[in-house]
Amino acid sequence: MCGSIRREIRPFLEAYGKDMEFAQIELNWFDWKFQNAKGKLELLKEWNIPVWVMEPVRGGQLANLQAEDAAKLKAARPDEGIPAWSFRFLQSLPQVTMTLSGMSSLQQVRDNIATYEESRPLTDEEMKLLLSVADDMIRRTTVPCTACHYCVSHCPMQLPIPDLLRLHNESMAAGPGAFIAPMALSAFAQNQQPSSCIGCRACEQVCPQQIHIPDALHDFAVRVGQKG
Ligand code: SF4
Ligand code: SF4
Repeated sequence: MCGSIRREIRPFLEAYGKDMEFAQIELNWFDWKFQNAKGKLELLKEWNIPVWVMEPVRGGQLANLQAEDAAKLKAARPDEGIPAWSFRFLQSLPQVTMTLSGMSSLQQVRDNIATYEESRPLTDEEMKLLLSVADDMIRRTTVPCTACHYCVSHCPMQLPIPDLLRLHNESMAAGPGAFIAPMALSAFAQNQQPSSCIGCRACEQVCPQQIHIPDALHDFAVRVGQKG
Protein backbone atom coordinates (compact mmCIF):
# COMPACT_ATOMS: atom_id res chain seq x y z
CA MET A 1 0.00 0.00 0.00
CA CYS A 2 2.88 2.29 0.77
CA GLY A 3 4.08 1.97 -2.83
CA SER A 4 0.67 2.94 -4.18
CA ILE A 5 0.38 5.96 -1.87
CA ARG A 6 3.78 7.14 -2.96
CA ARG A 7 2.80 6.71 -6.61
CA GLU A 8 -0.44 8.63 -6.14
CA ILE A 9 0.69 11.44 -3.85
CA ARG A 10 4.29 12.00 -4.81
CA PRO A 11 3.55 13.66 -8.19
CA PHE A 12 1.14 16.04 -6.43
CA LEU A 13 3.76 16.93 -3.83
CA GLU A 14 6.41 17.38 -6.49
CA ALA A 15 4.13 19.91 -8.21
CA TYR A 16 2.71 21.73 -5.18
CA GLY A 17 4.48 20.53 -2.03
CA LYS A 18 6.84 23.47 -1.75
CA ASP A 19 3.85 25.86 -1.55
CA MET A 20 1.84 23.87 0.99
CA GLU A 21 1.56 25.34 4.49
CA PHE A 22 0.07 22.14 5.92
CA ALA A 23 -1.61 18.88 4.92
CA GLN A 24 -4.76 17.58 6.57
CA ILE A 25 -4.97 13.78 6.72
CA GLU A 26 -6.82 11.05 8.60
CA LEU A 27 -4.32 9.94 11.20
CA ASN A 28 -4.81 7.73 14.22
CA TRP A 29 -3.23 4.62 15.69
CA PHE A 30 -5.70 2.24 14.02
CA ASP A 31 -5.07 3.69 10.55
CA TRP A 32 -1.29 3.77 11.11
CA LYS A 33 -1.10 0.46 9.24
CA PHE A 34 -4.70 -0.09 8.10
CA GLN A 35 -4.75 2.98 5.83
CA ASN A 36 -0.97 3.42 5.84
CA ALA A 37 -1.12 6.75 7.67
CA LYS A 38 2.53 6.05 8.54
CA GLY A 39 3.47 6.07 4.84
CA LYS A 40 1.60 9.34 4.26
CA LEU A 41 3.33 10.97 7.22
CA GLU A 42 6.75 9.87 5.99
CA LEU A 43 6.04 11.26 2.56
CA LEU A 44 4.92 14.62 3.95
CA LYS A 45 8.05 14.72 6.09
CA GLU A 46 10.19 14.68 2.93
CA TRP A 47 8.63 18.07 2.06
CA ASN A 48 8.66 19.32 5.67
CA ILE A 49 4.91 19.83 5.55
CA PRO A 50 3.21 20.18 8.96
CA VAL A 51 0.30 17.79 9.48
CA TRP A 52 -3.20 18.61 10.62
CA VAL A 53 -5.08 15.58 11.86
CA MET A 54 -8.67 14.64 11.29
CA GLU A 55 -10.43 11.58 12.74
CA PRO A 56 -8.01 11.25 15.69
CA VAL A 57 -10.42 8.81 17.39
CA ARG A 58 -11.96 7.47 14.16
CA GLY A 59 -15.43 8.89 14.78
CA GLY A 60 -15.41 7.66 18.40
CA GLN A 61 -14.46 4.07 17.51
CA LEU A 62 -11.09 4.34 19.30
CA ALA A 63 -12.72 5.76 22.41
CA ASN A 64 -14.90 2.68 22.86
CA LEU A 65 -12.70 -0.38 22.74
CA GLN A 66 -13.62 -3.95 23.51
CA ALA A 67 -12.98 -4.81 27.16
CA GLU A 68 -9.93 -6.98 26.40
CA ASP A 69 -8.26 -4.18 24.39
CA ALA A 70 -9.11 -1.50 26.94
CA ALA A 71 -7.71 -3.69 29.75
CA LYS A 72 -4.30 -3.84 28.05
CA LEU A 73 -4.11 -0.06 27.80
CA LYS A 74 -5.39 0.44 31.35
CA ALA A 75 -2.70 -1.89 32.64
CA ALA A 76 -0.01 0.21 30.95
CA ARG A 77 -1.35 3.62 32.05
CA PRO A 78 -3.92 3.20 34.82
CA ASP A 79 -4.53 6.94 35.10
CA GLU A 80 -5.15 7.53 31.39
CA GLY A 81 -8.63 7.41 29.88
CA ILE A 82 -9.04 5.31 26.73
CA PRO A 83 -9.80 8.31 24.43
CA ALA A 84 -6.64 10.02 25.69
CA TRP A 85 -4.48 7.27 24.18
CA SER A 86 -5.38 8.57 20.72
CA PHE A 87 -4.16 12.04 21.63
CA ARG A 88 -1.01 10.76 23.37
CA PHE A 89 -0.29 8.84 20.16
CA LEU A 90 -0.49 12.10 18.21
CA GLN A 91 1.65 13.88 20.81
CA SER A 92 4.32 11.31 19.94
CA LEU A 93 4.49 12.52 16.33
CA PRO A 94 6.42 15.82 16.06
CA GLN A 95 5.04 16.52 12.58
CA VAL A 96 1.52 16.93 13.99
CA THR A 97 0.82 20.60 14.67
CA MET A 98 -2.98 20.59 14.81
CA THR A 99 -5.58 18.03 15.85
CA LEU A 100 -9.19 18.44 14.82
CA SER A 101 -11.32 16.44 17.19
CA GLY A 102 -15.07 16.30 16.73
CA MET A 103 -16.68 16.53 20.15
CA SER A 104 -20.35 15.89 20.79
CA SER A 105 -20.70 16.69 24.49
CA LEU A 106 -19.43 19.19 27.03
CA GLN A 107 -17.80 16.32 28.90
CA GLN A 108 -15.74 15.41 25.83
CA VAL A 109 -14.61 19.03 25.56
CA ARG A 110 -13.55 18.98 29.21
CA ASP A 111 -11.77 15.64 28.84
CA ASN A 112 -9.85 16.80 25.78
CA ILE A 113 -8.80 20.05 27.45
CA ALA A 114 -7.59 18.06 30.45
CA THR A 115 -5.65 15.68 28.19
CA TYR A 116 -3.95 18.52 26.34
CA GLU A 117 -2.97 20.32 29.53
CA GLU A 118 0.12 18.18 29.48
CA SER A 119 2.19 16.50 26.83
CA ARG A 120 2.72 12.83 27.63
CA PRO A 121 4.01 11.17 24.46
CA LEU A 122 4.04 7.39 24.38
CA THR A 123 7.20 5.50 25.20
CA ASP A 124 8.49 3.03 22.61
CA GLU A 125 6.96 0.20 24.63
CA GLU A 126 3.60 1.94 24.89
CA MET A 127 3.64 2.64 21.15
CA LYS A 128 4.30 -1.04 20.44
CA LEU A 129 1.46 -2.02 22.75
CA LEU A 130 -1.00 0.40 21.13
CA LEU A 131 -0.11 -0.74 17.61
CA SER A 132 -0.42 -4.38 18.67
CA VAL A 133 -3.94 -3.64 19.93
CA ALA A 134 -4.65 -2.15 16.49
CA ASP A 135 -3.27 -5.31 14.84
CA ASP A 136 -5.58 -7.45 16.99
CA MET A 137 -8.59 -5.30 16.08
CA ILE A 138 -7.74 -5.49 12.38
CA ARG A 139 -7.25 -9.27 12.53
CA ARG A 140 -10.58 -9.73 14.29
CA THR A 141 -12.65 -7.69 11.89
CA THR A 142 -11.09 -7.78 8.42
CA VAL A 143 -9.93 -10.24 5.75
CA PRO A 144 -6.22 -10.29 4.89
CA CYS A 145 -6.47 -9.39 1.19
CA THR A 146 -3.11 -8.24 -0.16
CA ALA A 147 -4.59 -6.96 -3.44
CA CYS A 148 -2.41 -9.40 -5.42
CA HIS A 149 -5.24 -9.64 -8.01
CA TYR A 150 -4.69 -13.38 -8.62
CA CYS A 151 -8.41 -13.98 -8.18
CA VAL A 152 -9.66 -11.32 -10.56
CA SER A 153 -9.11 -13.14 -13.84
CA HIS A 154 -10.89 -16.22 -12.44
CA CYS A 155 -14.13 -14.42 -11.63
CA PRO A 156 -16.83 -15.10 -14.24
CA MET A 157 -18.60 -11.91 -13.14
CA GLN A 158 -15.39 -9.87 -13.53
CA LEU A 159 -15.84 -8.38 -10.09
CA PRO A 160 -13.18 -6.01 -8.74
CA ILE A 161 -12.61 -8.38 -5.82
CA PRO A 162 -9.67 -6.61 -4.12
CA ASP A 163 -11.49 -3.26 -4.26
CA LEU A 164 -14.64 -4.81 -2.84
CA LEU A 165 -12.71 -6.52 -0.05
CA ARG A 166 -10.92 -3.27 0.78
CA LEU A 167 -14.31 -1.60 1.24
CA HIS A 168 -15.60 -4.64 3.13
CA ASN A 169 -12.65 -4.21 5.52
CA GLU A 170 -13.27 -0.50 5.86
CA SER A 171 -16.92 -1.07 6.74
CA MET A 172 -16.04 -3.83 9.20
CA ALA A 173 -13.42 -1.65 10.85
CA ALA A 174 -15.78 1.32 11.08
CA GLY A 175 -18.58 -0.79 12.58
CA PRO A 176 -22.20 0.36 12.84
CA GLY A 177 -22.67 3.74 11.20
CA ALA A 178 -19.96 3.12 8.60
CA PHE A 179 -20.48 5.54 5.75
CA ILE A 180 -17.23 5.57 3.74
CA ALA A 181 -17.71 2.11 2.22
CA PRO A 182 -21.35 2.61 1.13
CA MET A 183 -20.43 6.00 -0.33
CA ALA A 184 -17.49 4.51 -2.27
CA LEU A 185 -19.65 1.60 -3.45
CA SER A 186 -22.11 4.02 -5.02
CA ALA A 187 -19.43 4.85 -7.59
CA PHE A 188 -19.25 1.21 -8.72
CA ALA A 189 -21.38 -0.04 -11.66
CA GLN A 190 -24.48 -2.07 -10.86
CA ASN A 191 -22.81 -5.30 -12.03
CA GLN A 192 -19.69 -4.65 -9.93
CA GLN A 193 -21.40 -4.65 -6.55
CA PRO A 194 -20.84 -7.28 -3.83
CA SER A 195 -24.37 -8.57 -4.49
CA SER A 196 -23.28 -9.51 -8.05
CA CYS A 197 -21.22 -12.41 -6.71
CA ILE A 198 -22.83 -15.73 -7.73
CA GLY A 199 -20.94 -17.77 -5.14
CA CYS A 200 -19.15 -20.03 -7.64
CA ARG A 201 -15.99 -19.97 -5.44
CA ALA A 202 -13.63 -19.98 -8.43
CA CYS A 203 -11.75 -17.08 -6.82
CA GLU A 204 -11.20 -18.93 -3.55
CA GLN A 205 -9.27 -21.69 -5.24
CA VAL A 206 -6.47 -19.33 -6.29
CA CYS A 207 -6.37 -16.98 -3.32
CA PRO A 208 -3.00 -17.39 -1.57
CA GLN A 209 -4.53 -15.94 1.60
CA GLN A 210 -7.30 -18.57 1.55
CA ILE A 211 -9.94 -15.92 2.04
CA HIS A 212 -13.54 -17.10 1.86
CA ILE A 213 -14.27 -14.42 -0.71
CA PRO A 214 -17.93 -15.11 -1.56
CA ASP A 215 -18.79 -15.31 2.14
CA ALA A 216 -17.14 -11.95 2.76
CA LEU A 217 -18.92 -10.44 -0.24
CA HIS A 218 -22.23 -11.87 0.91
CA ASP A 219 -21.78 -10.39 4.40
CA PHE A 220 -20.78 -7.08 2.86
CA ALA A 221 -23.84 -7.08 0.58
CA VAL A 222 -26.07 -7.73 3.59
CA ARG A 223 -24.38 -5.00 5.61
CA VAL A 224 -24.93 -2.38 2.93
CA GLY A 225 -28.53 -3.47 2.36
CA GLN A 226 -28.05 -5.16 -1.03
CA LYS A 227 -29.20 -8.54 0.31
CA GLY A 228 -31.58 -9.50 3.07
S1 SF4 B 1 -17.42 -16.53 -5.91
FE1 SF4 B 1 -18.09 -14.50 -6.53
S2 SF4 B 1 -16.25 -13.26 -6.51
FE2 SF4 B 1 -15.60 -15.39 -6.49
S3 SF4 B 1 -15.29 -15.92 -8.65
FE3 SF4 B 1 -17.37 -16.49 -8.16
S4 SF4 B 1 -18.61 -14.68 -8.69
FE4 SF4 B 1 -16.48 -14.02 -8.60
S1 SF4 C 1 -6.33 -13.58 -4.52
FE1 SF4 C 1 -6.92 -13.24 -2.37
S2 SF4 C 1 -5.36 -11.85 -1.57
FE2 SF4 C 1 -5.20 -11.77 -3.81
S3 SF4 C 1 -6.55 -10.06 -4.41
FE3 SF4 C 1 -7.78 -11.89 -4.50
S4 SF4 C 1 -8.77 -11.97 -2.47
FE4 SF4 C 1 -7.05 -10.58 -2.30
